[in-house]
Amino acid sequence: MSQISFSTLKLKPGLLSNLSTLGYETMTPIQAQSLPYILSGKDVIAQGKTGSGKTAAFGLGLLENLNVKRFRIQTLVLCPTRELADQVATEIRRLARGIHNIKVLTLCGGVPFGPQVGSLEHGAHIVVGTPGRVDEHLRKGTLRLDDLNTFVLDEADRMLEMGFQEAVEDIVGLMPEQRQTLLFSATFSEEIKTIAQRIMLKPIIVKVEFKHDDLSIQQHFYKVDDNDQRLTAVRLLLLQHRPESTVIFCNTKKDAQEVADELHHFGFSVMALHGDLDQKDRDQTLVRFANKSVSILVATDVAARGLDIDALDAVINYHIARDPEIHLHRIGRTGRAGSKGIACSLISDKESHKVIALGNYLDMAIEGESLPAINFLDKPIFAPQMATLQIEGGKKQKMRPGDILGALTGDSGVAGKQVGKINVFDNWAYVAVQQEVTQVALKKLGQGKLKGRSFRVRLIRA
Ligand code: AMP
Repeated sequence: MSQISFSTLKLKPGLLSNLSTLGYETMTPIQAQSLPYILSGKDVIAQGKTGSGKTAAFGLGLLENLNVKRFRIQTLVLCPTRELADQVATEIRRLARGIHNIKVLTLCGGVPFGPQVGSLEHGAHIVVGTPGRVDEHLRKGTLRLDDLNTFVLDEADRMLEMGFQEAVEDIVGLMPEQRQTLLFSATFSEEIKTIAQRIMLKPIIVKVEFKHDDLSIQQHFYKVDDNDQRLTAVRLLLLQHRPESTVIFCNTKKDAQEVADELHHFGFSVMALHGDLDQKDRDQTLVRFANKSVSILVATDVAARGLDIDALDAVINYHIARDPEIHLHRIGRTGRAGSKGIACSLISDKESHKVIALGNYLDMAIEGESLPAINFLDKPIFAPQMATLQIEGGKKQKMRPGDILGALTGDSGVAGKQVGKINVFDNWAYVAVQQEVTQVALKKLGQGKLKGRSFRVRLIRA
């Protein structure tokens, strides 16, 4: 890993001295790679997860760009959720301690609008917010971005996943063209590239190389004799670990479908993801898995390519991948920074050449472990915590995530924290709610309070 000190950067002395009081001595890889470009004023796209130190990367950039004496909004950071916006604002305030009188304001949905107007009237240097609410302030004229010089899109992939693309584009349309734009995303899909092309100028792309030695992933290899035993092994591992979200990788479509069918037969919450699905089914499968209303996804490598899920608890390799790089790619989807994910691979004698190649590639000795005790099969099957409701209205009907959230959480509705991801497509939308409030949520949404008209709403059954 790089051990580069922050003092190699051209930072204001106040910022630099504060970093050592925070205990930040050397840069994390994403900081080392992106900060030189960020500080030279370039637009930067950086691929980095939560925990990589990305907030300090853009935080230092925007603080360096700030003219404290000019009490105008010079920076906007958009985050997909209020929780993240609060974390980002806190980190920026910590980083800004070495400079006097920097005002950071958060503008997020789900909290009253009025007090935010009051805070805006008092002024701020930096706004951190969620797209829906920031857009609303802009439309009502309570926020103006004429003095903006730095714009940050944090967790851009999640933002798009949550249906915020339009709000983001509206907001960008109201800011000066001459500005620095920084985009952070854990994954780098075609959609991200498209939006980047629209809102950024000749961006530098920074990718922190994936290294197996800094993974917080426990790898396990289990010896199996034949395919029947593979399926039993999968059931044992699932029942032992009871992960909230698991992807099982298969090398063929046929295997993927069969494994999904078998697990379904045993009562697991599972869906198959392979190239034969049409776009609507694929979208729906991905939505249901990502919003945690389906626990297990059985996928081929090709089908999983666009999978933007950052919170996998487990990856199971039904067959070991054909190529060590694919193996790393598969297991890299588990183990978020800070929390441990597990990766289990089933191996048979027939695959010994692949296992040797993988061992060489990973520079580790691969030993087959024995499977969990057979009586794990007697344990009850676990169910997902969330349920997905489908609403027969989408972007074309001007449905926004905020409308759905509002309708659900209004009078005697469900609590905001019982609502999960919201995905709005052209003609329909999905919202995840906790299983126990499914009926209340169905009733609330079915009452015709969405955009003043009624949309058909149904529960998608497992
Ligand atoms: P983030 O990825 O921005 O959520 O940051 C993850 C955590 O790492 C936060 O708690 C930061 O305070 C911390 N952090 C960020 N940069 C550094 C650094 N260079 N050295 C030590 N800790 C850091």
